[in-house]
Amino acid sequence: MKETKFIFITGGVLSSLGKGLAASSLGALLKTRGLSVTIQKLDPYINVDPGTMNPTQHGEVFVTDDGAETDLDLGHYERFLGVPLSQKNNYTSGSIYNSVITKERRGDYLGGTVQVIPHITDEIKLAICSLAEHHPDVAIVEIGGTVGDIESQPFLEAIRQLRGDLGKDRCLYIHLTLVPYLQAAGEHKTKPTQHSVKELRSIGIQPDIIICRCETAVSPELKRKIALFCDVDVDAVFSSVDVDQVYKVPLAFYEEGLDQKVAIMLRLPAKNPTLTPWRDLVYALDHPEGETTIGIVGKYVELKEAYKSLHEALIHGGVANAVKVNLKYVNSEDISAESAREFLSDLDGILIPGGFGGRGIEGKISTARYARENKVPFFGICLGMQCAVIEFARHVAGLSDANSEEFNAESPDKVIYLLTEWFDYRKKITVVRGHDSDKGGTMRLGAYPCLLREGSRCHNAYGQKLISERHRHRFEFNNTYRDVLEKAGMCFSGVSPDASLVEVVELPDHPWFVGCQFHPEFKSTPMAPHPLFRDFIRASKEKRSAGEKQ
Ligand code: GLN
Repeated sequence: MKETKFIFITGGVLSSLGKGLAASSLGALLKTRGLSVTIQKLDPYINVDPGTMNPTQHGEVFVTDDGAETDLDLGHYERFLGVPLSQKNNYTSGSIYNSVITKERRGDYLGGTVQVIPHITDEIKLAICSLAEHHPDVAIVEIGGTVGDIESQPFLEAIRQLRGDLGKDRCLYIHLTLVPYLQAAGEHKTKPTQHSVKELRSIGIQPDIIICRCETAVSPELKRKIALFCDVDVDAVFSSVDVDQVYKVPLAFYEEGLDQKVAIMLRLPAKNPTLTPWRDLVYALDHPEGETTIGIVGKYVELKEAYKSLHEALIHGGVANAVKVNLKYVNSEDISAESAREFLSDLDGILIPGGFGGRGIEGKISTARYARENKVPFFGICLGMQCAVIEFARHVAGLSDANSEEFNAESPDKVIYLLTEWFDYRKKITVVRGHDSDKGGTMRLGAYPCLLREGSRCHNAYGQKLISERHRHRFEFNNTYRDVLEKAGMCFSGVSPDASLVEVVELPDHPWFVGCQFHPEFKSTPMAPHPLFRDFIRASKEKRSAGEKQ
């Protein structure tokens, strides 16, 4: 049986160095060499998952097919590797402690004192080793946080122990650090890297490879210095230079020889890489034939990380249409029926993303109205779809007080309401939920099937009738209003296979107006842009060129 090799990626000096991107890019490169790769993120925080965290704290919550609410790095992993991930690909300190405490209460450790070492570290090792279940050639494990943090110590201890458990030739340690350039001195500085490696060694981990995040490439001379001080091979020190586009990182790593060094050190059966798809992608990104401007009307406009997958899916849609996509974030709280034109008239397409809570909701409803009346391509995702439905109910179907139960529980026409019972086909149970249920894990989460109406815009986009998309929401379209809205001109073009849940709405007499209850952005990759994003961008591009001709 093939033995999976493990690559552990740690970070030093400071956070936000791009460990997730480095891990994804290395994974992508190893894949181009014919190796099967899986990847995991270990997050040191105590939340059991990031689902309960505010996006301003943590950025986007990425949802997997199996309904796990995970770190946004899993989004990078899926986009770069093109493989769907699951619950097993993201653990937090909270989830590790949770299972240890559950076992303790069950009496699994009866008679013993439960301790960080060995119980927590054993649980972490179990989580890491579960990656080898399907025997991939390589499992990349990214440890969140920065070396030296109190929180990440059990994770680091666990990966230290694994070298002994699995054997030296099955483990490789990569340390990502910052090599700042000091303008005044006119040189790169290696001291932070030296300190960070010292810290790592003090807990028993000697890195095999060091990746230096830097503004400009680190010179061979400096690499020699880092190699000498940190006790690594000279050809095991790499630069990770800032790039203007994340999809350039794999090729940049390839030019540096990172994947080759990893393959040699781990004795991987690597073939010559097939880099054409990555080269074509980078070429397409660098040579657009035109441009289009999309407005994202949401609440977290100051924090781009909150809409990470969405942002990427729009870029992918641009690649599919050979256009550069300019993103303009608009705060929905600034928009009113009167001011909508002022904020939205220069846009080729309008997108309202998912969200929770009532802040800025009337602005989003005015935005949907503006897009509908002015025939601007419109894409409403989850909350965005719900806003489009409310708007249509109010201004076209004549239900002037229509609302979602989430924003006004007293509304006479709750066109969007809390579904208290639904069938969870994955768990094969009917989920019953009270209106006051706790906030962790009470959402419809993960992949659900959806049937598309023959000949509809979304059916044409997907080119198939049965699709599967990922969900993360509590509220649903209220079927009581299906007839009324249909008569007024809304098309319910996607429903659950038993027709009980509305998944997609469209306006046929509009150039492109689509709302979906699911989150298509989670499944878009640069190599396979999502059909709805592709078509939305196409419609926006067409609107722009029609405008230019006038
Ligand atoms: N707040 C809405 C709901 O819970 C929409 C959620 C979302 O956009 N992800 O149904």
